[in-house]
Amino acid sequence: MAEEHSGSCNCGAVRFRTRGKLREVIGCHCSQCRKQTGFYYAATNVFDSELDLEGAGNITWYRSSPQAQRGFCKTCGSALFWKRDGLDYTSIMAGAFDPPTGLAFGYHIFCADKGDFYEIDDGLPRYRQSKV
Ligand SMILES: [Zn+2]
Ligand SMILES: [Zn+2]
Repeated sequence: MAEEHSGSCNCGAVRFRTRGKLREVIGCHCSQCRKQTGFYYAATNVFDSELDLEGAGNITWYRSSPQAQRGFCKTCGSALFWKRDGLDYTSIMAGAFDPPTGLAFGYHIFCADKGDFYEIDDGLPRYRQSKV
């Protein structure tokens, strides 16, 4: 049977299930992610065909840039999703998953924009912007 994972927002109004092994976690240090999370965004990607949402009506989608939206629970405010227009996958915040997640941290992106109140010193690859 394929690997499955579940997760939710803080209040439980939004739940999700995923099928398949989860991709490594990527930390995004851009200013939008910092504003949204208070620190940096740490998320995995799940193909939309392997993602089931429950309580999707409780998600507020905020268009944070011309090409992408950020989804959060309209009741408790938990940051959950990042979705770029036209792509067949959704980024899901690593912290929203129920343990055991099987997740491992992979690398950091948009390090050039990181906050000035911390260092990235975990030895993982760092990219000034996106990986490519
Ligand atoms: Zn919630
Ligand atoms: Zn970001």
